[in-house]
Amino acid sequence: MKIAILSRNKKLYSTRRLVEAAQLRGHDVDVIDTLHCYMDITSNNPTVRYKGEALPQYDAVIPRIGASVSFYGTSVVRQFEMMGTFSINESVAISRSRDKLRSMQLLSRKGIGLPRTGFAHQPDNIKDLIKNVGGAPVVIKLLEGTQGIGVVLGETTKAAESIIEAFMGLKANILVQEFIKEADGADIRCLVVGDKVIAAMKRQAQAGEFRSNLHRGGKAEIVKLSKEERDTAVRAAKVMGLNLCGVDLLRSSRGPVVMEVNSSPGLEGIEAATGKDIAAIIYQFIEKNAKPHSTKTRGKG
Ligand code: ADP
Repeated sequence: MKIAILSRNKKLYSTRRLVEAAQLRGHDVDVIDTLHCYMDITSNNPTVRYKGEALPQYDAVIPRIGASVSFYGTSVVRQFEMMGTFSINESVAISRSRDKLRSMQLLSRKGIGLPRTGFAHQPDNIKDLIKNVGGAPVVIKLLEGTQGIGVVLGETTKAAESIIEAFMGLKANILVQEFIKEADGADIRCLVVGDKVIAAMKRQAQAGEFRSNLHRGGKAEIVKLSKEERDTAVRAAKVMGLNLCGVDLLRSSRGPVVMEVNSSPGLEGIEAATGKDIAAIIYQFIEKNAKPHSTKTRGKG
């Protein structure tokens, strides 16, 4: 097959692994820098141009769109969809997953377990906002944060109020969430491909830290999931409309709760923790499912 990986950097582990695995399986693979693609969006014969030439017709694209380039990246994916190319994750689904609040509203509507969560911009009753998610301790998150930056534990009502006020002063969108204490500093990353969890790892925070991000010194290890955890991850992926994603769960006393669904999950941590050839499994899915003009929203959404 002729496959394009949309990635800003050929040297990233995930991009390298996807190239390697494609070549091993006999595919013809190109890495295309998303931000360098340009296109005539009014043409009725949609094409994508790159380095002075029209790109060939690909059978499939694998978008690896970083959060900071979501807006332009998803429009490039949409253009490929209009050309009839299969994208492992549709542009609409990627946009949906990039909006944390929209994602949580969708997941909640479908009855998927979530930490009790409130969101606000300029609340005029902060005490009520805190009380509404069950009271302190609460986790306060900056909506635009990644890698655990902007995720703070408000241990007491007083502390939580001060943090919320500080974020409000910055005019940031915030999310106030029930603290899942019993997760004990660990979260579970489930890698979903199609309708299966193909790998899972547990990330455990350093002693004295509740954030398990590997960038914050968390350690990853292989984990066995319960059926309920698997079902939750697969359902969350389905609600978001993603064929390839990382679903982050916390083990709460009332069962698994979804923290986040990531549409460009990294392969390095999870391949290392599980020893699985995730890149190969991604291609098995593409080989089976990539059909021309199969994008549900046909780039319209
Ligand atoms: P980011 O997207 O920046 O990584 P997360 O929302 O994933 O931020 O939070 C970072 C880490 O903090 C999570 O991996 C988890 O270990 C911990 N955490 C986040 N929310 C909660 C919560 N409500 N209860 C307990 N721990 C949490």
